[in-house]
Amino acid sequence: MIRNPTVTVKKIEANECQFKLEGVTPAAANALRRTLLSDVPTLAIDEVVVVENTSVLFDEILAHRLALIPLKVDEETYEFLLDCFEEGKRDDCIASFALEVEADKPVTVYSGHLKFTGFTGELGGLARVEIKPTSDLVPVVKLAAGQKVVLEAYAKMGTGKEHAKWQPVSVAAYKYYPKVVIRNENCGNECRKCAEACPKGVLAWSEGKLKVVEGKLEDCTMCRACEEACPDIVKISWDSSSFIFTVEGLGILLVNKIVEIALRRILKRLDRFIEAVENCLSTAISEPVPPE
Ligand code: SF4
Ligand code: SF4
Repeated sequence: MIRNPTVTVKKIEANECQFKLEGVTPAAANALRRTLLSDVPTLAIDEVVVVENTSVLFDEILAHRLALIPLKVDEETYEFLLDCFEEGKRDDCIASFALEVEADKPVTVYSGHLKFTGFTGELGGLARVEIKPTSDLVPVVKLAAGQKVVLEAYAKMGTGKEHAKWQPVSVAAYKYYPKVVIRNENCGNECRKCAEACPKGVLAWSEGKLKVVEGKLEDCTMCRACEEACPDIVKISWDSSSFIFTVEGLGILLVNKIVEIALRRILKRLDRFIEAVENCLSTAISEPVPPE
């Protein structure tokens, strides 16, 4: 059960964010983690037509490598693609690419050699949009002099639960919010073993007292090294309704957008679930089962 959930952003950059999620159960936090990893649709190469390949790699390996290149999509285009996907029409919203490299000396073919050639199907009108790899420097294959690769690649929307190439984040993880209880700040013994045992510098002896260093509590990994050093005075536990999330994106979308889409996907699933339960109940009420 969710009880007034709140989110406090601790750090936010284009491809990395950290936030505190409070007032939710572990199941709800885990639903968000799993959705981030496996249910936020993204664009990835799904079909490759190899016109010519005289490189040392088989066509299938080339296709696999191309599929794993993250593709950057602007937010507006992403929303079009997402609508397409959610309406079950992903095969009508395809981004096409071409790659042609002929080597006259040893060269490496990189992701930057992929050239976006436009959308097919419903998104064909998005003429000004350009889809590019998040990096031009992902190696695809090395060619010796005289070797050649010519291919067409088609990218579709999909989710990480279907294949990891559609996963939008490299990290989506959380930890419980730590609780460090010092039973007797005036332990009367400045041995400082507990503080020295802490690998994160969370504890310190200051002004005659053992304290949690200001701003360091969230660094606690709950390793319990301090508790082992002094089990009678230091106790480590956690708040099972508060979580510190870390999310690292692959550059496909801004990471805050990825979190937003994950939450939208969860809410849509809940709406469908509520609708299914209501339909079930209304059917049961209108057609009561006769007593045996
Ligand atoms: S190890 Fe125990 S006795 Fe020593 S400073 Fe820490 S709490 Fe005090
Ligand atoms: S549990 Fe580990 S990280 Fe946390 S305060 Fe104790 S020693 Fe430091």
